[in-house]
Amino acid sequence: MDFSSIKLDNIENAFTNFYRVMMESEHFRVFFDGQEQVNALIKLQADNFYQSLFMSDEDFKQNYILLGLMHAKMQLPFEDMVSALSMVRDNLLKNTSIDATTIYNIIEKMEQYLAKGYLVFQFEDVLSQLELSIKNVQEAYSEQDHDVLINSLIWLKNITIRFQSEELLQHSDILTADLCPLTPMIQNLEVEDELKQRIIISHTEQHSLALSMAFFFREEDYMLANFMFAKLFAITVSLSNQIGLAVSHQAIEELYYDALTGLLLRHSLESKLKDSFRKSARKQQIVAMMMLDLDHFKKINDTWGHQAGDKVLEALGKLIQQNQREHDVAFRYGGEEFLLFVSNISEENTVKVAERIRAQVEKLVIEWEGVAIPLTMSIGALVIEPEKLNDALESYIEKADQNLYEAKETGRNKVVISTYQSE
Ligand code: GH3
Ligand code: MG
Ligand code: MG
Repeated sequence: MDFSSIKLDNIENAFTNFYRVMMESEHFRVFFDGQEQVNALIKLQADNFYQSLFMSDEDFKQNYILLGLMHAKMQLPFEDMVSALSMVRDNLLKNTSIDATTIYNIIEKMEQYLAKGYLVFQFEDVLSQLELSIKNVQEAYSEQDHDVLINSLIWLKNITIRFQSEELLQHSDILTADLCPLTPMIQNLEVEDELKQRIIISHTEQHSLALSMAFFFREEDYMLANFMFAKLFAITVSLSNQIGLAVSHQAIEELYYDALTGLLLRHSLESKLKDSFRKSARKQQIVAMMMLDLDHFKKINDTWGHQAGDKVLEALGKLIQQNQREHDVAFRYGGEEFLLFVSNISEENTVKVAERIRAQVEKLVIEWEGVAIPLTMSIGALVIEPEKLNDALESYIEKADQNLYEAKETGRNKVVISTYQSE
């Protein structure tokens, strides 16, 4: 076509409309204050556009990517940019002699490369936000926890860096991007299933967004790639928060449970038991409290070493858990002393349960350096009738302890039981 017939005035006219739209944006007004500045900008843009009619493809591309980057840095919403461009297009169609096909093509290309500029800016912006999040996580969580938490952020960071370097990612690249897949790690989270399922769904979504983005990036459809990236960022942050939630759940569990035996720790005795007492009293059920203590445990430590002692305690934790029913509660009360609350039981069955545990401990085979460690346990049990079941926790423990003491005094490896009588 004959470009000599194109009048710069008419192009300026078109860009005046462009800036009328842009002036509606608050962000824009912050940067360009006053009509004089805007007029200068209109001249510059019109001139730039005019020159771009003669530019090589590569120059055109670089020019508009840079312009997009600039607009993104000024925080101009991309939608405003697109609607302003459509006004430019309509004005050029009306007021210049440039043919319609050329105008449509050039505006479409402009939109695309401007979008790429926005995307480049987002990469930078998101990377610095990710760096910050990763740093915060490292400071706020224990080493073991933050590994789980930041891996999803690191995954996005690696993918972003690769897009930034113009690398065209394939399906396999996304699945194997450094530190990904997160799935096995997520599977290892020790949390309730519902939360875990939510995390896995977000993780799957995260992958498919990264894949769509890779696809649009390759197709040079930067508008859609942009859209996918914004979603990908949002979902990664949300995923990381969900994992954070799961990790803190795990940390809270760790606060209540003893790592060696897997039983509840003594400090949660009150809160856990008072609730159980109330429920049993309401249902008019008999309950039992048992104090269990290994016999001559000091000798085991002295003879076989502390590690052997720990192995015994670990096995005992398991044995007690196996004897627990749904509404029973077990604690590691002291070093080698355990407290078992048994719900809904008769006096007769209390003897049976205690005897069963005692006999199981006697039969337990814990080998150390090829030799079985002989074990026995004494148990003091207390039966509590529902009408006596109030919050007298300390006095129940005292009575059960007296029974344990009697079992120790009268030969060990035995059960002593009584029914609670209030003073
Ligand atoms: P008794 O039959 O009278 O109960 O004798 P005992 O030796 O078991 O009595 P005592 O309660 O005085 O000793 C308990 C020992 O348990 C003392 C302590 O060294 C040991 N112990 C406490 N906690 C742990 C632990 O976590 N690991 C190991 N290996 N030993 C522990
Ligand atoms: Mg002992
Ligand atoms: Mg003891």
